[in-house]
Amino acid sequence: MRPQDFRDLQKKVAGLFSHLWNTSKENVSGRVSFALTEPDRKTGDIGIFFFGSVREIFLLTTALLLNQYRMGSKILRCPAPRKNQPEKPCDRIFLRIRKQQYCGKTCTDRVAQQTNRKRETRVPGKRKAA
Ligand SMILES: [Zn+2]
Repeated sequence: MRPQDFRDLQKKVAGLFSHLWNTSKENVSGRVSFALTEPDRKTGDIGIFFFGSVREIFLLTTALLLNQYRMGSKILRCPAPRKNQPEKPCDRIFLRIRKQQYCGKTCTDRVAQQTNRKRETRVPGKRKAA
């Protein structure tokens, strides 16, 4: 794969992510054919084989995975305010683990600090001594 092909693929994957929040301007499409296997005798499960270029199979698989995790609300955009632009959200895309709300420790700590600051300003007399 040439560096330009890789950059093109990165752009398409970024387009897939943007698609999740309807902010995509990138057209992600391709042609893939498929074949189903006979149902498994014990489980009844069928297999699906996809045929296409590596690039198209990669994009299709990524789209299916993103869709699966998005439907379970496991892929989120970080709502924490940015460090230098608190009026804008961080917006980093992350895979939520358990009850995780923010993309990482930095954003979680920033939100906790701001919450504490607000609490301290609201009730200045009730602050605990360190
Ligand atoms: Zn964040």
